[in-house]
Amino acid sequence: MRLVLLFVSACWLSGSCFAAKQNPTAPLRLSVDLTEAPRNIFHASLIVPATPGEMTLVYPKWIPGNHRPSGPIANLTGLHFRAGDQEVPWRRDPVEMYSFHLTVPANANAIEAHYDLISTDSAGAGGQAASSNLLDLNWNQVVLYPDGAASDAVQVSASVRLPAGWKYATALTAARTSGDEVEFAPVSLTTLVDSPLIAGTHFREIELVPSGEIPVHYLDMVGESEIALDISPQDIAAYRKLVMEADALFGAHHYTEYRFLFTLSDEVGHHGVEHHQSSDNSAAERTFTDPQKRMLEAGLLPHEFAHSWNGKYRRPAGLATPNYQEPMIADLLWVYEGLTDYLGNVLTARSGLWTAEQYRESLAATAAMLDHRAGRSWRPLEDTAVSVQTLRMLGPQWENWRRSLDYYPEGDLIWLEVDSILRRQSEGRKTLDDFCRRFHGGESGPPKVVPYTFEDIVRELNAIVPYDWGKLLKDRVRKPSEHAPLGGIEGSGWRLVYTSKPNEFLAAIEKLSKNLDLTSSLGLLVGKDGQLIDAIPGSPAYAAGLGPGMKLIAVNGRRWSAEIMKDSLRAAHETHQPIEIIAQNGDYFRTYSVAYYDGEKVPHLERAEGRPDLLTNILMSKTGQSSHTSSSAGPELVEGMSSHSP
Ligand SMILES: [Zn+2]
Repeated sequence: MRLVLLFVSACWLSGSCFAAKQNPTAPLRLSVDLTEAPRNIFHASLIVPATPGEMTLVYPKWIPGNHRPSGPIANLTGLHFRAGDQEVPWRRDPVEMYSFHLTVPANANAIEAHYDLISTDSAGAGGQAASSNLLDLNWNQVVLYPDGAASDAVQVSASVRLPAGWKYATALTAARTSGDEVEFAPVSLTTLVDSPLIAGTHFREIELVPSGEIPVHYLDMVGESEIALDISPQDIAAYRKLVMEADALFGAHHYTEYRFLFTLSDEVGHHGVEHHQSSDNSAAERTFTDPQKRMLEAGLLPHEFAHSWNGKYRRPAGLATPNYQEPMIADLLWVYEGLTDYLGNVLTARSGLWTAEQYRESLAATAAMLDHRAGRSWRPLEDTAVSVQTLRMLGPQWENWRRSLDYYPEGDLIWLEVDSILRRQSEGRKTLDDFCRRFHGGESGPPKVVPYTFEDIVRELNAIVPYDWGKLLKDRVRKPSEHAPLGGIEGSGWRLVYTSKPNEFLAAIEKLSKNLDLTSSLGLLVGKDGQLIDAIPGSPAYAAGLGPGMKLIAVNGRRWSAEIMKDSLRAAHETHQPIEIIAQNGDYFRTYSVAYYDGEKVPHLERAEGRPDLLTNILMSKTGQSSHTSSSAGPELVEGMSSHSP
């Protein structure tokens, strides 16, 4: 389970530094008072068994699922330590901001800590963790533990006090409930941090799949209103199907029950964070009732669910750290996140949450975005993974040149290419599903971590179908490249094309964000007030001198608007005259002449006639025909694939 021995001190291996200060069998007692959640402050007290002498307590820094040192240390406030009635002074380590040094007085056998969390930053995303109606508690934000301890070795007995009348859900087991107070059965610190809790006034629990041949699965929702929880019977059926499709894909479970925790609110930060036995998801209040929001968020739960296998159970060795202070090595995130992105989107289509056409529109948008990434000329994909600690949460200016967390979307393209090669090389007898069953399946049971390396991935792929996987994957992730890897789209019978027809996916993003996406034509991303969010180096707009931070004022002599801009693209296509753009840069105005004549360019996938349609087979339900999935594949291929359906 812990393969990162290079980074583990001898003290870790022996457990000596931990044993000297705390009896490993005595649990920490953590009480969290959430009654002031509506104004975003959580109060906590913690009792740590201790022996007299020097002691260091630490606040979790490297957070699983975030892959970076994102523990909100600046929000830890009101800190006091006491031994009995005696105040114990503390001193923050001057180098390691997450460490607190103190001296346990003679005769004391425990240290009591009191502190508050300012919950204006939610897990893994900007935005607050609570509102007037609901909250999302991530235990790593309200706990301290002895420095040097492995999180598996620390037992915690945790309890919460909820705002009056609020209902809650978590993967933890309640040992005792009294009014609004809940005491949970003791668990390891690993399990506690892996088991977030949501609570709220508006709460709804749906048992998706009862306990039987596979573990029980729940959808637990809190929302700002009852309307927020108004999920349609069709969507409930699709989430049920999602559970069965994942079962068919992986063939085993590494959890004893699973809870989709879903917060529906415009007040709190939106995110998805994976855990072994649950996922912590948050989206807009009207996600279930607004068709465009629903489509854009359809892949959220499938993605986080797939992580229970790919990311939590099978984890890159560099991310399988013994506790939350040990740095994470993120070079394999193109597997951890990239393969999850691919599988999550495939499961979204197989379960009927997306139609096959919606999947293709989404993939076309992804492929076009990555194909126009100027930064790929200098930065290999793997470096976007290695650099997650510096790339996450940055502004969008110059993102195209800097590159972003591209290991997510580019994973869609790379793993589709792997899937299509597996299918072609084996003449339809083997697929990426076979790899998943072998790599992520195995024996069902409670959560555990099995780390892997790059070499393990290559070996396991070769066990399915022999191929030069090492070279292919190194070429894809370690070399800069002018273009996105489109071999999977082409190899599965489709091609990326540009037309003037709207892309359903991009149109929904444009409507909700109010941005104008001209990245495939002029090379500009324009914000709602005409602010240039990004300009792509090498594009016509960039060549004309436009850049992020400037503001559009007028196009061809007329006040700027999205419609006027689109009109100008069509006009330039017909007249072959440059587009004249007046833009403001600080206090200065200038006219920029953009030599672009190709009209609107909106990405789509188009069938490559004459090549087998493997993509439609990939998206086909494994548990019975999805109502949405097209059946246009040739019968010989359907038969070829069906021999591998469970
Ligand atoms: Zn993910």
